[in-house]
Amino acid sequence: MNTSENLFPHDHYVNAERRKEIIDQKPVLIWLSGLSGSGKSTIANELEKKLYENGYLSYLLDGDNIRIGLNKDLGFTDDDRKENIRRISEVSRLMLDAGLIVITAFISPFEEERELAKSLVKEENYFLVHVHCSVEKCEERDVKGLYKKARAGEIKNFTGIDSPYEIPNEPNLIVDTENETVKESVDKIFLAIADKIK
Ligand code: ADP
Repeated sequence: MNTSENLFPHDHYVNAERRKEIIDQKPVLIWLSGLSGSGKSTIANELEKKLYENGYLSYLLDGDNIRIGLNKDLGFTDDDRKENIRRISEVSRLMLDAGLIVITAFISPFEEERELAKSLVKEENYFLVHVHCSVEKCEERDVKGLYKKARAGEIKNFTGIDSPYEIPNEPNLIVDTENETVKESVDKIFLAIADKIK
């Protein structure tokens, strides 16, 4: 039942502007999208470390803290995938309002779901990074052994094998983890968002 017509959100005294005076940073959502094994988690962790070392408050949302907790009731049907992204985006929206720099590390293979995320947090707060790496290279890395399982038919609808990855149309930035070191990719992202978070 949709009761939103009976909801009247309060204007809170302590709002995003006032929190910003204390935190002294501008929030942004850095949305990492790419194949399994492309390097999203590795880059997200190193980027968070760099932000921390430079005095920025951030929070990383990834499969571990989302699929195991908030979204543990969701599977991989089209509806569930959409709901997964909607919840991640709404949590990100709250964290942005709280003043944090949010990093998300999800494959997010469909343009539609990335567009949904962008519209929920508003375009000016959204920074899409395409973590590019060929399927061949990701499969060679096979960090979690998932490609092997997908090839053996043990996992269905695996992105890059029997489910598509739609290359982002207009990412804010592309990092190429096949040809860059982790440090190079992280430095590129940090440099690209430096103006936005100050
Ligand atoms: P994902 O989170 O996208 O599934 P992971 O970060 O778990 O990917 O795994 C990526 C693997 O690729 C790691 O073993 C990492 O060390 C390696 N790798 C090599 N070069 C890079 C790079 N430039 N950026 C990120 N990861 C890289």
